[in-house]
Amino acid sequence: MRTETLDVLRCPYCGGRLSLVDSLYHRSAAGEIHDGILGCHCCIFPVVDGIPVLHLLPAATTARDQIQAGRADLARRTMFGLDDEQAEAFDAVASSATATYRDTVGALGPNFEGGYFLYRFSDPTYIVAQSVARVVAATVLGGTRRAIDICGGSGHVTRSLLDLSPFPPVLADLYFAKVWLARRFTAPGCEPVCCDGNAPMPFARGAFGFAMCTDAFMYIWTKRQLVGEMERLIDHRAGGSHSGAVPGAVLIGHTHNERTWSPSHGQPLSPEGYADLFETLEPRIFGEAALFADVVGGGPLDLSRRDDAETLDRNPALTIIASRNPAVFARHPLPPPETSAGDFRINPLYAVEPEGDRVRLRLRFPSEDYEQEYGACRQYLPDELTVGTAVLSALPDATNSGPLADLARRRIILKLPKRYY
Ligand SMILES: [Zn+2]
Repeated sequence: MRTETLDVLRCPYCGGRLSLVDSLYHRSAAGEIHDGILGCHCCIFPVVDGIPVLHLLPAATTARDQIQAGRADLARRTMFGLDDEQAEAFDAVASSATATYRDTVGALGPNFEGGYFLYRFSDPTYIVAQSVARVVAATVLGGTRRAIDICGGSGHVTRSLLDLSPFPPVLADLYFAKVWLARRFTAPGCEPVCCDGNAPMPFARGAFGFAMCTDAFMYIWTKRQLVGEMERLIDHRAGGSHSGAVPGAVLIGHTHNERTWSPSHGQPLSPEGYADLFETLEPRIFGEAALFADVVGGGPLDLSRRDDAETLDRNPALTIIASRNPAVFARHPLPPPETSAGDFRINPLYAVEPEGDRVRLRLRFPSEDYEQEYGACRQYLPDELTVGTAVLSALPDATNSGPLADLARRRIILKLPKRYY
C-alpha cells in the first residue's frame, strides 16, 4: 500500500488515524508499506503483501500474529485461506511472471467463486455497471477527487475508474484473494483494502468524491449502516479536505428487487425499502432494464429519466444514484467499453475454430447456470460468426476504425487486462 493512503484510512471501530507501528516487524520502502502492523487508539491490524486488513475476523487475527512473528509468507497463506498443499501450488503461480488471471484463479481451487469472473467484461450486469459508474464518476470526480468501489471483488468495475483521477481508486472487499487479484491483473494501480461491508467503513469522512457498490448490495445485511457510510464518505461539508469541490455521488448498481425473482437473490429490499435507507441524500432509483437498453442501443445513457413505481416493481435489478450534483441526472454519451491499458483479445465466451483463411467464432457458455443468469448477452453477442484471419492478425492491437474496431464495439473483441487468459 502507498504510505499516503494512511491519510484516508481510519479505524472502523474507534475512528482513529492508523499509522505503521515501527517497533513491530515491518517491511517498507519509498512510500510503500509491504508488510507490517497498523495501530490506532483501540487495536492493531496487519498489512499483508501490501494490503491493509482492517477487520477482526479470525483469519485477520491469525495473520496479524504471523506478521508480528515476522512470517509474512504464512500471513499471506492465511488470508488466501489455503491449506499447505494448495498454498505451495498457489505460491508457485503467484511468483510466476507469466501466469495469467485465469491460471491464478485456477490455483485458488474449485471453491473460489472466480469462475464466472473470467467472463465478467461482457456480461449484461457488467456493461450497465461499467457505463453508469464511469459517467457518474467522471461527472463528480472533476479529475481531482478519489473514488471507492465497495465490495468490488476482483476489480472489474474498479478498472473503469483508473483514469478518472490522479488519486488511485480504492477497492474495498472482504475477500483478500479478490482484491489481490485486482491489484495484480484486473485493476493495476488501484489501492486494495480488505474490510467488512457489514462494519463501519475504515475511511475518513469526505475522503471520496464517488462511492459505489455494484452487484453486491443485496448480500449486505447491515444495509442502513452501509448507505450511511457511503453518504459519510462523500460528505465533504464537515472538514473534509475538498471543501469547494463539486458535490459527490453514491451509486448502488445492480441490486435485486424483492418484488421479483432472480438467480443469486440475496436479501433484497423493495424500491421504497432501498429509498428509505438514505438519510442525508435523496436517491433516484432506476430500473436496470432501460439502462441496459440504452447501453445495448449505443447510447445515450439517460439518467434524466424518472421510472414510475410500476416500472420499478417489474425490474429484477435496480440502480440507485444519490447526489446533489444535478449534472449527474442527465443524458450522457455512452463511454467507451474499456479505457485502461490492456490487450485486445477475442471474448473468452467464444470458441475459436480455424477454417482456411477464416476463423469461425461460436458463443459457448461456461455452464447452464451462467446462461440462465447472463443469457441476455445474446442481445449483443451473435451465436456464431466468421472473421478473416487477416483481420484478427492485428491483435492485440486494434484501431479506431475498420473491421477490428467494429468487432470491439460489438464486444466480440474485448480490451482485456494484460495476462488475463
Ligand atoms: Zn481503533
